[in-house]
Amino acid sequence: MSASNTGARHDPSASLGSAPPWEVLEDLHLHTNASDGVLTPTEMVEFVSGTSLHFFAITDHDTTSGLDEAEVASEKYSGITFIPGIELSSGVGNNDLHLVCHFVDRENRALQTELAALREDRESKAEEIVERLDKIGLLLDWDEVVANADGAIGRPHIARAMVARGYVETVSDAFSRYLTPGKPGYVSRRKLEGTLALELVHGAGGVATVAHPRTVSNIEEVLATLVPRGLAGIEVYAEKYGSDMIDRYSAYARHHGLVKSGGSDYHANGTANEIVPGMNGPPPGTVRALYERAINMHGVDGVGYRLDESQL
Ligand code: AMP
Ligand code: FE
Ligand code: FE
Ligand code: ZN
Repeated sequence: MSASNTGARHDPSASLGSAPPWEVLEDLHLHTNASDGVLTPTEMVEFVSGTSLHFFAITDHDTTSGLDEAEVASEKYSGITFIPGIELSSGVGNNDLHLVCHFVDRENRALQTELAALREDRESKAEEIVERLDKIGLLLDWDEVVANADGAIGRPHIARAMVARGYVETVSDAFSRYLTPGKPGYVSRRKLEGTLALELVHGAGGVATVAHPRTVSNIEEVLATLVPRGLAGIEVYAEKYGSDMIDRYSAYARHHGLVKSGGSDYHANGTANEIVPGMNGPPPGTVRALYERAINMHGVDGVGYRLDESQL
């Protein structure tokens, strides 16, 4: 399977809506093969060290297992600062919500217990998906599915195996034809209720941000529920957002007093128009704004991961 046909972004037809007017120094949303990204944490650090970035956050789905390796790898490069993060599978009402969280303490027991439950559910549901696909004649070997999975398994691992077998042309096709609600290979998964997710993240000394709000169908309900409970930010500079979406989510951020965050959500899928680190991200000063939220919420000694303030 060549790098160019391994996957796709949420909206593969779009090009970057509007490149930010600032040099992108901060990327608060990146995936490694600890979840559904393709690069190892070390490879990701090597990659971002060659970009415009000064700050990068590793935010894998429902796992912190890539963080130690990324942190160690980043020590070789004086120009980039590592930020530990996680993207939590969450929901408000019946709707899915991804929360990108930063500065969490990886050792926090309550957080790790819930993450383990989320990953166990991911695994059993992935097995169920493979069984369902088998029933409609799309046989996959479990080994093929987990070939590039080194932590939290997700639908992209199944989609990539389907591409490799030639059942679909692209990862995006696998999602739209088989792996989304209403399609034969869809199985719903455990998600953390939003207010509990926030409590867990705050208990681990972190702060939480709404990821790619374009995908959140009940954004107003989400903000009404989570802002009073300490939600820190919302991604405004995300994916391929054009000025219409940037304006829309900026207005929500202003109204609710949220940090306007973002990043590339890079998975190294290798598709032609994938947003790569350095192409899109929030303005300089966003890391500092989020860090100040964390300090205001937890006190300097209560933040789950201390940054050297001279770097901010
Ligand atoms: P899962 O973790 O199983 O819920 O899968 C969600 C992940 O799949 C997201 O984080 C994206 O990386 C990827 N994804 C979601 N929708 C699509 C899509 N339509 N095409 C390609 N990748 C997608
Ligand atoms: Fe993902
Ligand atoms: Fe996400
Ligand atoms: Zn993500």
